[in-house]
Amino acid sequence: MKAERVLVVGGGVIGLACASFLRRAGCRVELLERETVGAGASRGNCGLLFGSDLVPLCHPGAIGRELKLLLRRRSPLAVRPAADPARLTWFLRFWRSCRPARLFPAMQARAAILSSSIALYEEFFARRTIRAGEERRGVLLVFESPEAFRAYEETARLLSAWGCAAEAVAAGRLREVEPALRADLAGGWWQRRDLHVRPERLLASWKQEALEAGVALREGCTVLGFRRRGERIEAVRTTWGDHEADQVILAAGAWTAPLARRAGWRPPIQPGKGYSRTFPRSGRPPAIPCYLYDRRVVVTPFADGIRLGGTMEFAGFDLSLNPARLDALSRAAAAGLEKPPEGPGESWAGLRPLSPDDLPLIGPVPGRRNLWIASGHGMLGLTTAPATGRLIAELVTGAAPHIDPQPFSPRRFR
Ligand SMILES: Cc1cc2nc3c(=O)[nH]c(=O)nc-3n(C[C@H](O)[C@H](O)[C@H](O)COP(=O)(O)OP(=O)(O)OC[C@H]3O[C@@H](n4cnc5c(N)ncnc54)[C@H](O)[C@@H]3O)c2cc1C
Repeated sequence: MKAERVLVVGGGVIGLACASFLRRAGCRVELLERETVGAGASRGNCGLLFGSDLVPLCHPGAIGRELKLLLRRRSPLAVRPAADPARLTWFLRFWRSCRPARLFPAMQARAAILSSSIALYEEFFARRTIRAGEERRGVLLVFESPEAFRAYEETARLLSAWGCAAEAVAAGRLREVEPALRADLAGGWWQRRDLHVRPERLLASWKQEALEAGVALREGCTVLGFRRRGERIEAVRTTWGDHEADQVILAAGAWTAPLARRAGWRPPIQPGKGYSRTFPRSGRPPAIPCYLYDRRVVVTPFADGIRLGGTMEFAGFDLSLNPARLDALSRAAAAGLEKPPEGPGESWAGLRPLSPDDLPLIGPVPGRRNLWIASGHGMLGLTTAPATGRLIAELVTGAAPHIDPQPFSPRRFR
């Protein structure tokens, strides 16, 4: 079966990837974005293509550790109280996903989507289909606390069994590996094979590639709802009028949940707010992206700047900039870098689309014949976009999927 007309809703990195792979598979593709491409979480993020990040957020012991973090002053994690049944159900599902028996299948699924995505990115970069200021310097996990540094050894052992061995860097050698770090840190773990990109460049380049391939991009077009006939979506209702289609893909990031509700389904996706501050190159930027692990803040060097990013706030769809959270990014940088960047920087907040088992939802919407979802990519949407786009194109056109789609099936939340 070949889908003729496909509508993709959402112009973030996931929507772009879906549109681009669907077009390559021979579909007529329209991409609807309410603002401009990259208006959501995909633009101001940390830019890591973090292929070694196999352990899901929900893993054995995660609840205790995160609760301890919550109690800390200036915690990188915050939950704004709200009597929201969807959020409570989400937390319950997250808690269940922390069971030891869930870890192996989750890591297996993450390994599949991560390694496929990195291979696809490598191909794009080698062919110069997409240019994104990509560099392969790895990611250096940096620890202030000696206990946390030692405790990470267990995770490193687990990752090593999955072919992602991290190199331990003792305190004394840390500044040999990355001279921009402070002298009083406890140590680090270096994943050498990871890449990083400038997300804005990636989006601009991917958008160009999609346009040249023939994707029809409608920026400033908001999807309001759906016209249904039985189990089929006949048309998508937008601020530009009704758009008819054979297949519809929901790739609207954190906003996928409220949109899907209008089509009669409630996917368990919660917005997880994060912040970044981007500075012109100043101070002494690191050469390697550094993950300041105790504070959950990433420092990413770009050719023409440096970005600090992190924190996780459960605060609904509120995108306001909280000065205390932005300040926490700079404090983290000061605790990790000898000469952190100075000045106001450009502040940004984005909503990660979080699924409770930390695996994306990619596949058909339960109970609908021509509605698909590609969302819930959490902390790794930039990294896992290529394999998501390829898998959606395969599923929609009826081609053999290149990775097992089962672990990502939205039906697991029926
Ligand atoms: C601080 C921070 C750091 C991060 N760092 C990394 C990292 O280093 N590596 C990594 O892999 N991931 C990272 N992430 C995660 C990553 O940014 C997300 O997983 C990813 O951007 C999600 O992409 P998306 O396309 O699903 O959503 P989005 O980028 O949010 O795109 C959704 C789009 O849908 C549009 N939309 C919404 N509603 C409608 C509607 N009704 N009609 C039309 N359009 C609509 C929005 O305007 C938006 O453009 C980070 C996230 C944050 C917040």
